[in-house]
Amino acid sequence: MPFPAGEHYQDLKTLVADLQLHTVCEAARCPNIGECWNQRTATFMLLGNVCTRACGFCNIATGRPEPVDAGEPERVARAIAYLKLQYAVLTSVNRDDLPDGGAHIFAATLRAIHDRLPDCRVEVLIPDFKGDPDALAAVLAAAPAVLNHNVETVRRLGAVVHPQAKYDRTLELFRRAARLAPEIPLKSGYMVGHGETFDECVELMQDLCAAGVRILTVGQYLRPSQQHLPVERYWTPAEFADLRERGLAIGFDHVEAGALVRSSYHAREQEAAAHGQAPHELGAPRPLRAIPADRSLITLPVLQDEPS
Ligand code: SF4
Repeated sequence: MPFPAGEHYQDLKTLVADLQLHTVCEAARCPNIGECWNQRTATFMLLGNVCTRACGFCNIATGRPEPVDAGEPERVARAIAYLKLQYAVLTSVNRDDLPDGGAHIFAATLRAIHDRLPDCRVEVLIPDFKGDPDALAAVLAAAPAVLNHNVETVRRLGAVVHPQAKYDRTLELFRRAARLAPEIPLKSGYMVGHGETFDECVELMQDLCAAGVRILTVGQYLRPSQQHLPVERYWTPAEFADLRERGLAIGFDHVEAGALVRSSYHAREQEAAAHGQAPHELGAPRPLRAIPADRSLITLPVLQDEPS
């Protein structure tokens, strides 16, 4: 990937820092950050930047998180309104220390964005909330455009890749969401490169599809550092094409598969494709208003004057 740089990249970086926000793009050292940020696509990470889980593939820091920041939903909404995003993705660290896993912050952020930008479609990439049905219901009640939750890996490798998650709990989350809000498309994603076989991937895709998932992403695991799980194998472009083809045959509306595909990569296009829209029907992104050189202007009174 090209070195991340460019006008919008730099502006977004400053905006995120000024509003004291976090993005998974930076925290996870995503290889697509230059491309996405220059297209004004970012995945905002709620509930701080310290996770209560320690997954072997993930670059996000593990530890004792800061207390919940009640002002975060409003600041995220202001950033999204300022960028005039038509499609936004929200995710979070795992907050197993909170009674609802942080679901109320997802709901509050969705509502804050909808208040400011009623046309902005918001995808949420949620943790499993330890299987708490009330937490899931709270997020669904705030009307996300897509509910996404990553299964991450095949059943056999779950204990190695993300020991605090559970394969069957993920499937149950989707079945429950499909019952509670059948109008909200469900999405999931997994990585290859941890030693899984093609047949195990097929089994995984069948399980997800049967649980109600309609949109699927498949990407290559890349080791963030020497302290993380090693890459067992790099899958070839032809193998990714096979996975995509098999996924579509199993019944998904849309499958994005490729070495650099990440859960939120081309998220807006994925959601449109699942609704049968071609990329050209999405329309051009709204023109970006220049972010003032004087960063103090990116303050709340200015943003409050913005038309929603
Ligand atoms: S793929 Fe997702 S996490 Fe990576 S830079 Fe793009 S929006 Fe951020």
